[in-house]
Amino acid sequence: MLTVKTIILKLDCLDTGILDQTIQAYTDGMNYVSTVVYALGKPKGSVALQKEVYPTLREAFSLKSQMACNVVRQVTGTYRTLQQQVKIKKSEWQEIEFTPSSMTCSFKRDFTINGDQIGITTLEGRKIFRYFRYPYMEKYLDNSWKFGASKLVKHRDGTYYFHLCCEKEADTKAITESSNFMGVDVGQNFLAVASTTDKKCKFFCGGEAKNLRNIYSNMRKRLQSKGTRSARRMLKHLSGRERRLMTDMNHRVSKEIVEFAVQNDVDVIGLEELTGIRDTTITHKKQRYTHHSWAFYELQTFVEYKAKDRGITTVYIDPAYTSQTCPRCKHISKNNRHRKSFVCECCGFALHADLIGARNIESRARTVRYNLEVQGCSQPPIRELSMDRVPSPGL
Ligand SMILES: [Zn+2]
Repeated sequence: MLTVKTIILKLDCLDTGILDQTIQAYTDGMNYVSTVVYALGKPKGSVALQKEVYPTLREAFSLKSQMACNVVRQVTGTYRTLQQQVKIKKSEWQEIEFTPSSMTCSFKRDFTINGDQIGITTLEGRKIFRYFRYPYMEKYLDNSWKFGASKLVKHRDGTYYFHLCCEKEADTKAITESSNFMGVDVGQNFLAVASTTDKKCKFFCGGEAKNLRNIYSNMRKRLQSKGTRSARRMLKHLSGRERRLMTDMNHRVSKEIVEFAVQNDVDVIGLEELTGIRDTTITHKKQRYTHHSWAFYELQTFVEYKAKDRGITTVYIDPAYTSQTCPRCKHISKNNRHRKSFVCECCGFALHADLIGARNIESRARTVRYNLEVQGCSQPPIRELSMDRVPSPGL
């Protein structure tokens, strides 16, 4: 899969005279070609068009050879788009006028990058400019990415930016600021709730899961109250059977969750850290995990395995207050929740209460991921996939 990312380099130059002249000549060239194409009444193939206009672009507009080619290609492209608009009656055939605000540049022929310097071909040949090189750019400039057709852009205030187009062939999706995240909250009123960065959500009820848990829970209470030897044997048998049923359910639901992630182009799934061996002094530990924690842990593990097969990364986040935090202003309070609804007492943000957890997990996963990237880690630490660390169904 080809990943394309544009990073914006701010040029550090006071004397922009030669860039102004170059971008002006380039634009004048485009407007000349535009007049030619407009007169034809329809776009012409760029090879044929180039033969016709190339000598003028070179002599009258003093453009370098590669610039002349870029001018033709860019104008042809713009008129092709116009032609499509005309076909669907969204526009009329008209002469397009270009303003001196940008210039297309091909890597090596029009520009090169070396350290914090960029060489750009101008009317007076290749000129070197310094640009502000920030840490986040490093990974794109370490030779692992190829550079595609980029743009020199002039802002209204006269400053110049270089929109560098970076391309990379990747097996799994590269994690960037633009990645799509999905938070998965397990074990509230629903077996699982998923919410993505672009606010797509889904509830996974696991069919009869909840019912099943209640039936077994009641049966267990009755047997426990008897306390006889045969009752204890029955309890043991019950936990095995319950466990198998829950495992089947977890296989089904985890498949649905990952399927939902794939449909929504999710790159990273966020889950809560549920090992139960975290700092035990924290008082906000989620009570809902105590009894069926092994089942939820198992569900998460299946999600992680199945996601990995589809090229999706999983990160685990701190579960503290995920159900009481306002996704908008981050205010934490028990008073934010009123049964089925969540209304932030601070900013008034309102949402279905069952969605809050997933929304907060999604947002924390993004933060965790971002922090790892800042530290230079490309992969999150792998969680130990051992079922022994969580309590078995309590008897
Ligand atoms: Zn709020």
